[in-house]
Amino acid sequence: MPTTTPCPSCRRPKGPAKYLCSDCWFTLPQPARAALNRRDDHAMARLRELHSQLAGGVPLTEIQVTR
Ligand SMILES: [Zn+2]
Repeated sequence: MPTTTPCPSCRRPKGPAKYLCSDCWFTLPQPARAALNRRDDHAMARLRELHSQLAGGVPLTEIQVTR
């Protein structure tokens, strides 16, 4: 049974394999989306960067993923 979790930005339901709902995802700057789409040893570190900025109130349009 698939589990849905809320989007960490807007709290609407999102797909289980997605970091954000599609509306929020496409609001991110393109470089942040490209970084988050990479799957390598730093994927979890990038996800933590995203979540800590969301928790800190950084607007979606200003999210930066540096790893
Ligand atoms: Zn959202």
